[in-house]
Amino acid sequence: PDVYFNPHVASLPKYNAGLGPEAAQAASGLKTIARLASNENPYGCSPSVSKALEAVEPWRYSDPGCHRLRLALSEHLSVSPDKLVIGNGSEEMIAASARAFLRPDATALTVSPCFGLHEIEPLAVGAKVEKVPMTPSFEFDIIGLERALARSPHLLFLPSPWNPVGAALNHKELRRLVSATPDSTMFVLDEAYYEFTSEVIPDGLSLLRESGRPYIVLRTFSKAFGLAGLRVGYAVCSSAPIARMLAAAKTPFNVNASAQAAALAALADPGWMQGSVRQIVAERERVANRLRQSGLRVAPSEGNFLFVETGRSSECVARDLLKAGVIVKPWMETPYDSFIRVSVGTPEENDQFLGALLRHP
Ligand code: PMP
Repeated sequence: PDVYFNPHVASLPKYNAGLGPEAAQAASGLKTIARLASNENPYGCSPSVSKALEAVEPWRYSDPGCHRLRLALSEHLSVSPDKLVIGNGSEEMIAASARAFLRPDATALTVSPCFGLHEIEPLAVGAKVEKVPMTPSFEFDIIGLERALARSPHLLFLPSPWNPVGAALNHKELRRLVSATPDSTMFVLDEAYYEFTSEVIPDGLSLLRESGRPYIVLRTFSKAFGLAGLRVGYAVCSSAPIARMLAAAKTPFNVNASAQAAALAALADPGWMQGSVRQIVAERERVANRLRQSGLRVAPSEGNFLFVETGRSSECVARDLLKAGVIVKPWMETPYDSFIRVSVGTPEENDQFLGALLRHP
């Protein structure tokens, strides 16, 4: 493996399938590559972001306290700024949660198939990871999670919407999991795809706030706001002491000046974000329906991606798609090794994907 890679990632082959646009260009001979492996926003980001970036002074250190961004988020979420920690992507806050709340031989609980870092970061601090598999109908196994929570893990990484599956917890499910979680378990709800969810899905932050229990809610500017390359996400904590523990597990200047400026501009233009989310959600349903009409099983999704049972080795499917200039993420772990995760792109990108996949169903 590439020596530049995090060794914890490299030790898990299923996370090591990163295929870049250069590989797709070489394999397909095409110039137009559909990059559908990383759940980015295919429409870019708000035009006000470029203007904000022009005003950045690269020779000045960024604000280590992210004061303006925390203030803007504090108003946006009605949360006091001392409960907010900004990360170099929300992935930094996943790592900080593991460092702050897990020790060697502690236990973290998550779901399977899982988002890589929900497993990698606990492993990196020497903790053990227990995973509760999805149900055959692509849902959270609430009873299985309740049972595992009764064993008092030190930390829970719960993604909703669930990358890669797509399910999101409804009110009843989230309430059940909250009440099944001992106060000694740090409840980390990862809402990276929160903006894509339908009306029926609860805002986990509000529900956790009502519960009065300790929690961390993670959100990001990488997905709906389209700032994946600038790396900015955040943690909303139930208390200032928990926020201080997360802040202690990061480097002082973790969020660069461009990222802070861009996030502020993106947050100030919710209309752009909502418009792109509407198009992505409409396309998500179109692509899912087309795949189902062709006889493939597709998990219902509340995110900007689809988990598709291809009926073949996902690695082979991904290689064939690469030859058609389409990059997707194959799941290379039993029993999910016939599944691919495909991000919802522009209508043109989605057609390129559908054409290539359905040519050899
Ligand atoms: N959580 C989940 C569930 C994700 O899918 C991702 C990105 N794929 C992240 C966190 C990390 O995103 P970022 O670091 O870009 O905020």
